[in-house]
Amino acid sequence: MDQTQALEALSMLCRRLAGAPVLALTGAGISTASGIPDYRDTEGVRRGNAPMMHQEFVSSLQARKRYWARAMVGWHGVVQARPNPAHEALARLQAAGHVVSVVTQNVDGLHEQAGSRDVIELHGNLHRVVCLDCAATLTRAAMQTALEEANPSLQDVRAVLAPDGDAQLAARFLEQFTLPLCPACSGDRLKPDVVFFGDGVATHTARAALEATERAAVMLVIGSSLMAYSSYRLCLEMSRQGKPLLAINMGRTRADALLALKVRQPCEGALPWLADQLGAA
Ligand SMILES: [Zn+2]
Repeated sequence: MDQTQALEALSMLCRRLAGAPVLALTGAGISTASGIPDYRDTEGVRRGNAPMMHQEFVSSLQARKRYWARAMVGWHGVVQARPNPAHEALARLQAAGHVVSVVTQNVDGLHEQAGSRDVIELHGNLHRVVCLDCAATLTRAAMQTALEEANPSLQDVRAVLAPDGDAQLAARFLEQFTLPLCPACSGDRLKPDVVFFGDGVATHTARAALEATERAAVMLVIGSSLMAYSSYRLCLEMSRQGKPLLAINMGRTRADALLALKVRQPCEGALPWLADQLGAA
């Protein structure tokens, strides 16, 4: 696609967004420019580590150790990540009233950092930790302190970051790893407050996302292949309500057949342009 075609596609998208309350649905593609890796390639195929399965995490101490050891060394990559121009443009569009709801599949907290309000986080937030036994919560930063205090020998290990804060780590490090216990009940089932594979979206979050479809006249999908059913079902719901679905996405999506328009451009270039055109200061 040459530059004229790219601009023409963006202009079409802009016309369809003007004046309509927009529901923005974002996925990993909006955070790749912030250094958070994408789960899937442009064909929607998963890459990287096998995902942590919810049931395995809940039932296996070994799985929890593996997760937290990797998460400890991968955390530097998460805390260093900053919102990019796409997050910032979306926050501007929300402040100006064009975007009425932001629903995200991401767990990185970058929308809030960029200034978006009332973000509906379908898959939770990596910056919170919850005890599965007593429901106590702590910040991920406090968990990191506990992890590093319990594992001083791992502190200087740096590892390749995966999308859910997971990382690649050699088996020999896992053998030395000590899992911090819950500060409230001393249980060993502290879990990041994110939805692992095999678990469902929290009921109140799913309801909030469905309500967001009712407030919007159009949905803009940004950087998501929509392979997760929790986001795909929102597309089905918009479609059922007769509302158009638009997308800024580099690759294939599960909802391609439902899309009125798809712009194949990096969102960190497209969204700031749209925000400027729509007069979002
Ligand atoms: Zn506890």
